[in-house]
Amino acid sequence: MYLCPLCQNPLTLAEKQYQCVNRHSFDIAREGYVNLLPVQQKNSKDPGDNKDMMLARRAFLHAGWYAPLAQAVCNTLSTLAPENVLDLGCGEGYYTAQFKQALPTAAVYGVDISKAAVKFAAKANSNIQFSVASAYQLPFAEHCFDIIVRIYAPSKPQELQRLLKPGGYLLTVTPGPQHLLQIKQAVYDNVRLHSDDVEAIAGFSHRSRQRLQFQLNFNQPADVLALVQMVPLAWKFSAEQKQQFAATLPQIDVDFLLDVYQHAPLKTG
Ligand SMILES: [Zn+2]
Repeated sequence: MYLCPLCQNPLTLAEKQYQCVNRHSFDIAREGYVNLLPVQQKNSKDPGDNKDMMLARRAFLHAGWYAPLAQAVCNTLSTLAPENVLDLGCGEGYYTAQFKQALPTAAVYGVDISKAAVKFAAKANSNIQFSVASAYQLPFAEHCFDIIVRIYAPSKPQELQRLLKPGGYLLTVTPGPQHLLQIKQAVYDNVRLHSDDVEAIAGFSHRSRQRLQFQLNFNQPADVLALVQMVPLAWKFSAEQKQQFAATLPQIDVDFLLDVYQHAPLKTG
């Protein structure tokens, strides 16, 4: 299933490491994940590792604030009944773990460029295969996945096409127009709403869309802070502004677009 990130030959598992025919080898970490991100693909020392952001996201997700989203994605996955799933940009594995629960017999893979996040994910989920790699050069064999789930993560259409089986599905989650509106209103004078246009993805046909909207009603400023901390526009807030905003215990709108795309099936005849 895994390919060598240096020479693209299949990796085979021997003892506690993966090795290719050219003797490139990759150790399985104590936590159970494999790091398949070659040094030359790293753009920074610790790509994707903003530790504060990761910890905030982890606390927020594990408190269950986005549980309806996890449930909605799991429902879609169960309907499609895949034998295997890749969670692209899995982070610390909050969603990945629930995919495995929804699909107990499926092989579930999670990949992320952040080693700190993957380490945490692997430690908590020994029944899921986690790896560190770039979304733009994924270390998996051709046409090996039934479904790829992409929650917010960046991706490259050619890689998605390469990895999915013919007729396989891509599930994407992106922010809808009203997503975190109250945070944006606190940051910007003129709020630009997210577009709800369906993204065209080369090589894929759009099959369905579900819009999921709900409201977060906070009881304590710490939870608001965790949310503010994990959204990209947080840097526009000063520490003091964050505290002030959190102290008002705002009701915050959540708006997700769940789209299902299908990879062009094999032509017959
Ligand atoms: Zn190799």
